[in-house]
Amino acid sequence: MKKRIVLLPGDGIGKEVMNSAKEVLTAIAEEYNHSFSFETHEIGGAAIDQYGTPLPETTVDACKQADAVLLGAVGGPKWDNNPSHLRPERGLLGIRKALDLYANLRPIKGFKNLLPASPLKEEVVSGSDLLIVRELTGGIYFGSPSERRENGQVVVDTLSYTRQEIERIIDKAFQAAQGRRGRLTSVDKANVLESSKMWREIVEEKKAQYPDVAVEHLLVDAAAMKLITNPSHFDVIVTENMFGDILSDEASVLTGSLGMLPSASLNEAGVGLYEPVHGSAPDIAGKGIANPTAMILSAALMLRYSFGLEDEAKIIEDAVQSVLDAGYHTADLRIAGGFQVGTAEMTKLIVDYIRTVSASKCIASCYF
Ligand code: NAD
Repeated sequence: MKKRIVLLPGDGIGKEVMNSAKEVLTAIAEEYNHSFSFETHEIGGAAIDQYGTPLPETTVDACKQADAVLLGAVGGPKWDNNPSHLRPERGLLGIRKALDLYANLRPIKGFKNLLPASPLKEEVVSGSDLLIVRELTGGIYFGSPSERRENGQVVVDTLSYTRQEIERIIDKAFQAAQGRRGRLTSVDKANVLESSKMWREIVEEKKAQYPDVAVEHLLVDAAAMKLITNPSHFDVIVTENMFGDILSDEASVLTGSLGMLPSASLNEAGVGLYEPVHGSAPDIAGKGIANPTAMILSAALMLRYSFGLEDEAKIIEDAVQSVLDAGYHTADLRIAGGFQVGTAEMTKLIVDYIRTVSASKCIASCYF
């Protein structure tokens, strides 16, 4: 398979973890006979320094022509006092908008060795493996009017969705559930909000198209509680923009390891932007100790969702699991009796696993 991948390392540890993802993808391309070309562009603070804008036109054009985009992270104290149009985050919001990324997917999986770092009891969080599908371009964050009235004594925000906006995210979630354990939880506030009533109706209508997926509805308040009391109940959760914003941050702390969490944002053409959930971590940038795993797992999501390369995605995920099982971890993680390594060594361990396992698979399939 031939694919063109745009890399946007951004700022801080973004550059370091992007190098790791590129090494892993290069190994995958070599072992599985794919041709991946990489083109690097600037975004965020690095783009402000070089081009005077957080999102240069050249970056947008390259992303629009790419098969997929990998993003590191943006931001840092150097740009914190810039005027709002010259803030690194503007680059991030701008590229999401330019690519019309309406579906945000965040898988959250508890790795056994890391569970002691969870704020929840180990027996509660153990076995958790869920995916949050969040609508990203509609709802109350984008509704109009959003304003203050009557000398600032009245304030209005607008929650609006079109049927088409709801249908496409619900379809995406059903399809994701089909590729996982076949269970979908739709989260809404249908006892109060008209938009949620329509959301629930559409989920009910769509059920017939996906008979292999079991569906339940949960009110957002109940869902927030259940994420804490019984996270392993969930397979795929689908919800609108603001509920998804809150629930995905709640869920991201369950596993106790920010450096492990990848995300995908997709548009209707299947072109996606893949990035770790964490930021640019200026406090550790340049020290060679950043955890590259979230970025590497984001590359795995790219292989799965944009290129349909499930085996290749799975071997990366297995590699991460295996390296952690062997007790290796970066400085942000704790594994009792484990071995602390830096970014480069963690990356090498993951690449070595991929090369060894794919070579042994080839020997097995070639000779037996
Ligand atoms: P952060 O995620 O960068 O860091 C929070 C803490 O987690 C820090 O102590 C950091 O050292 C640690 N950490 C994060 N990722 C790590 C990794 N891969 N390996 C090891 N440790 C890791 O969040 P923050 O400190 O609130 O923000 C720092 C900068 O990042 C800010 O400028 C913020 O605006 C930006 N930010 C960017 C994004 C993004 O690009 N998507 C997201 C969040 C924050």
